Amino acid sequence: MNKAEREKYKKKLMVKKDEITAILSEAYSESKEIETGIAQDLADKAESSYTKEFLLSLSNTERKQLLLIDEALNRIDKDEYGICQRCQKNINKKRLDAVSWAPHCIECQEKEEEEES
Ligand SMILES: [Zn+2]
Repeated sequence: MNKAEREKYKKKLMVKKDEITAILSEAYSESKEIETGIAQDLADKAESSYTKEFLLSLSNTERKQLLLIDEALNRIDKDEYGICQRCQKNINKKRLDAVSWAPHCIECQEKEEEEES
């Protein structure tokens, strides 16, 4: 992968990182508001904790993604970007365009998902 390409993906990753950071801080302040709501009105407690749980589970996914983006940015700096972390083969460029933080090629990603489930 040449420098221009690396820069392109780096930019993509930075934009995505900003996006997620914004979502996370929004979800965080929202869950704070819900917490305050619980204190104010105990009758609504059940519904509110459900919403809160949802927000927390959402931010878990986002947090995971943020981690993957950071790892991808590290790989760009170390000139290892675009290489599958499992089989060391090049990751398809189309895949990197769609999922720039992907640590694995499609074959390995499928294997990982199989192992997880
Ligand atoms: Zn692979």
